[in-house]
Amino acid sequence: MSIRWGLIGASTIARQFMIGAIRAQPNGEIAAVMSSSAERATAYAGENGIPLAVGDLNALLGSDIDAVYISTTNELHLEQALAAIKAGKHVLCEKPLALTSADARAMVAAAGDAGIVLGTNHHLRNAGAHRAMRDAVAAGRIGKPIAARVFHSVFLPENLQGWRITKPEAGGGVVLDITVHDADTLRFVLGDDPAEVSCFTQSAGMAGGGLEDGAMCVWRFESGLIAQSHEGFTTKFAGTGFEVHGSEGSLIATNVMTQKPDGSVLLRTTQGEEQLSFDREDLYVRSVRRFHAAIRREGQPSASGEDGIWSLACAEAALQSAASGKAVKIDPKLGSRN
Ligand code: NDP
Repeated sequence: MSIRWGLIGASTIARQFMIGAIRAQPNGEIAAVMSSSAERATAYAGENGIPLAVGDLNALLGSDIDAVYISTTNELHLEQALAAIKAGKHVLCEKPLALTSADARAMVAAAGDAGIVLGTNHHLRNAGAHRAMRDAVAAGRIGKPIAARVFHSVFLPENLQGWRITKPEAGGGVVLDITVHDADTLRFVLGDDPAEVSCFTQSAGMAGGGLEDGAMCVWRFESGLIAQSHEGFTTKFAGTGFEVHGSEGSLIATNVMTQKPDGSVLLRTTQGEEQLSFDREDLYVRSVRRFHAAIRREGQPSASGEDGIWSLACAEAALQSAASGKAVKIDPKLGSRN
């Protein structure tokens, strides 16, 4: 059975990664694209070989599709997802699911009531490096995890220096853009949930409109583990990485907070050092593969709607902490609080 996708949003991420990832599936087809501008939809469809271009959500949802991929700016995700769910289409939505965790909860509840598959496109869970780290932690190879560090400060490419750094109302800022990924990846690798966060943000010269373009967070997890994460848009020369330090060993991953299946993971224990091997499957191809399986009722999407609520609750708490100067408790069921 082929799965026919409608793209909601004529976006960069769809063009660079997701169109190819859908077409890489044996049964994945892109049937239509919707943009808020019919002209841009037509141009995008032409450039990407998509048969139908529409300038209106109802026209997309009324067409012959099974699933939608939502990659519009963040303030539009909620309304578009709710409409797709109402129309009986499965939804793979970009992160953050919405602008608030309360809205994300509404989205997940609507999908649950309608029996619709809802996934959050947290690509990093699909990286072989992160799955190798998760397996090593779960197998006790570093003993009891004590601390983690995430290095995810990058330089935002010029072609993406638009709404992310100018439009608070579109859900811009580095916390909704990157901290959500770091929170999700920490949860995934550690198999643990964050309970509290303390965050400082900065505007280091790129973002305007009161938006932050750098953030440093300190997280306390349920198990007692503490973690730090650094997200940024303005550091041209920083590398990325992810470390987990345990009572019996450390995992030191380099160049793994990326969109490509790159990087390395080193395990260091009293036995010495070992480079962990892991698969190099494209992250987005795996995300769509898992989503297709979930549609067939064979498992869950790589990151579920609940995972999307979690990552947004974490980002929301980080922003509240930065604004208040206090540590904020994270509660994905109720929202965050000082
Ligand atoms: P883009 O800025 O490329 O696209 C977002 C929207 O902006 C599009 O839907 C489009 O609206 C509009 N747009 C795009 N190009 C133009 C243009 N030339 N003129 C006017 N409007 C334009 O954003 P991204 O692709 O970077 O991000 C989209 C979503 O995907 C966000 O939610 C982001 O957080 C997420 N994302 C996720 C990643 C991941 O790895 N999981 C990586 C990157 C982004 P319209 O459709 O109406 O034409």
